[in-house]
Amino acid sequence: MSNNNTHNYIDFFQHNRTEEQTETLYSQRIKDAKEVHNKFSSSFQERPCPICGGEKFDQQEDFINLYSVVKCRTCNSEYVNPVPGAEALDYYYNHCISNDQFEELSQSRKGSSSIILSERLLEVLNLIDSLLLNKNTINIVEIGCSSGSFLNDLHIYLKDNDLDKRVHLSGVDIDESAISNPVTDGVDLYASSAQDFAKNFPNNFDLILNFELIEHLHDPFEFMISMKNILAKDGIFHFSTPNGKGFDNIGLGYNDFRPLAHGIFPPMHLQAFTTENIVHFAIRCGFDVVKIDTPGNFDVDIVKRFISRSKNSQSNFNHISLFDDDQLAIIQSWLKDLNSSSHLVITLTQS
Ligand SMILES: [Zn+2]
Repeated sequence: MSNNNTHNYIDFFQHNRTEEQTETLYSQRIKDAKEVHNKFSSSFQERPCPICGGEKFDQQEDFINLYSVVKCRTCNSEYVNPVPGAEALDYYYNHCISNDQFEELSQSRKGSSSIILSERLLEVLNLIDSLLLNKNTINIVEIGCSSGSFLNDLHIYLKDNDLDKRVHLSGVDIDESAISNPVTDGVDLYASSAQDFAKNFPNNFDLILNFELIEHLHDPFEFMISMKNILAKDGIFHFSTPNGKGFDNIGLGYNDFRPLAHGIFPPMHLQAFTTENIVHFAIRCGFDVVKIDTPGNFDVDIVKRFISRSKNSQSNFNHISLFDDDQLAIIQSWLKDLNSSSHLVITLTQS
């Protein structure tokens, strides 16, 4: 939180991706979603609520008139149901063009002074500092590390500060092509599913990281149990996910044009976590919640830019045009203070 009265308006396109990249990626993602539905919808599977395990739900508006979205009557979570199965997801992540486009965008951000990378790095460095107070050496793993861009940045920092001998870094990704082209040599990378990886490293990691992963999984509960198994005693599990109740996720629904994917965006995002349901979910999976934060920077810029394209022409969020950039910068800072940004970060320990 800023300790003075100046707040800077943060422009999404300057920090994340360009307007052209945004249009291209969004339209490709919709094309890919249609293709996966065409090819695999007959094998989509009914599931209980992935957050609480509840069986009762109410139907919501379909995503692009194809994918069924429901809301759990027990915990109020929105999720895709029936959900694409393993074969559909394997096809989506290995054969659909939007994933290559996204990987290129992420690679191009590497090494830049991106606000996303620097804030993420700072959070992780604080956690490392706290762990090194009690242990001489620690093991860290990033699940879903792709080709290791974030771990590479972390490794460089640790080396520059003579901490690389005390902190061992590993990364896991199911995408073999990403792992076979690592961007760093200071990190052990494994091509594996999280569940298979977990079988080989019980109680091994002092810090488990993942960034925007858990919303992609058709069984996030099973994933969390695997993470609990590889977490060392007194270890920390730290991850991020979209906040389905955040400002831009509410302002622009899952059928609106968006520069960042909504919490519901199949076959990519299959359930929307929120600051509410994630606490229930963490407790159900055997964790204690240390901290929840929504440190996002882009909500007001995203709504301001794209509300005119919303399918809901009467949206209350149209009033955003009444505010100038200085005022919007203050509103963005309030969203952070109120835990109402669409970017959710949570830190857990074993209960
Ligand atoms: Zn539920």
